[in-house]
Amino acid sequence: MTLDIERVVTTLCEIAPPPAPLHEPRFGSAEAEMVVSCLEEGWVSYHGKYVTQFEEELAAFCGVKHAAVTVSGTAALHAIIHMMGIGQGDEVLAPALTFIASINAIAYTGAVPHFVDAEETSFGVDAGKIAAYLHRISERRDGALYNKSTGRRIAALMCMHAFGHPSDLDALCAVCDEFGIPLIEDAAEGLGSFYKGRHVGNRGYLSALSFNGNKIITTGGGGAILCNNDELADRARRITTTSRVPHPYEFTHDEIAFNYRMPNINAAVGCGQMQRLPGYLEKKRKLAARYAEAFADIDGIRHVNEPPECISNYWINILLLEPGYENDRVAFFEAANAAGIGARAAWVPISDLPMFADCPKMDLTVTRDLYNRIINVPSSPHLMGDD
Ligand SMILES: *Cc1c(COP(=O)(O)O)cnc(C)c1O
Repeated sequence: MTLDIERVVTTLCEIAPPPAPLHEPRFGSAEAEMVVSCLEEGWVSYHGKYVTQFEEELAAFCGVKHAAVTVSGTAALHAIIHMMGIGQGDEVLAPALTFIASINAIAYTGAVPHFVDAEETSFGVDAGKIAAYLHRISERRDGALYNKSTGRRIAALMCMHAFGHPSDLDALCAVCDEFGIPLIEDAAEGLGSFYKGRHVGNRGYLSALSFNGNKIITTGGGGAILCNNDELADRARRITTTSRVPHPYEFTHDEIAFNYRMPNINAAVGCGQMQRLPGYLEKKRKLAARYAEAFADIDGIRHVNEPPECISNYWINILLLEPGYENDRVAFFEAANAAGIGARAAWVPISDLPMFADCPKMDLTVTRDLYNRIINVPSSPHLMGDD
């Protein structure tokens, strides 16, 4: 079985005329005017009206009670894991099929990532497989869950909404309830994605968004912590601003904390981008439909649709090589990139990277299989026309 690489590349070039990067940001006068107003008024750092405005708009859009904005998605995740009291001596169950930031954030706290496998529908972590695995390898004592072989506490499960497709949150919450551990949602790729009618980032004890340059909307660099709990939101804002105790003139701080809060300049860009988000989501659905139609009858490759009962933001469109066509992968990537199509592979499984190679892991057959078959293709909204 061989892939008709020429036909695939030609089809891609019709949808995404080269040069077509994987994902490109666009800005307009709204962003520019708000940034200029920050400069004119001198509110450039994390105090400023756009920080609050962006948080309120995000919380409303995501249907969560609170959003606390940060300098990056990585910082949001780091602060989340730190706030949960997770660190040295703990393990966090986390996908091997994810961007490195999810796992770095765990490692920063001194905790050890414990890699779990993906499933084929959403490409998120596999709740059923995790439950069966935990029955085998874990035990509950003193009110916590422990890994029987390493002796470390299993402190949380992190899921990630891969490429914008919502993970199976009902099933993941059920596993967390059964084993008595909290869920962390890395929703960095999921702004505008809905699981059974509810925006992602709503089910985690705490959840993270990212506004890096290649995400669906961007603030240059940025992220957010989402939650539905007033005290957690207060703590998130304090821990990302050096945990300073409010006082008219004394500098005093009540715990070791971070300088992770988003500056007003970046939040101004975010407020402008929020105006574009609904339009972006609409165009991304149209682009996904275009890919789906164009690849419907090319042998050996198909477009990945959103999971059942979910609305995906289609942040990055995925083409999946059918089993048996993996050998054409490298030749395809070479040909596509030579033609100016920014096609990219999925992340090398994090469990294979040297710094995480000794971490505990379950069988990762599906992760490896998906890595060999996933092709990410250009997904900028303006491929469906400028505003
Ligand atoms: C983008 C991203 C992050 C956060 O990245 P930053 O660049 O730090 O904003 C975290 N996890 C995933 C899965 C991501 O795609």
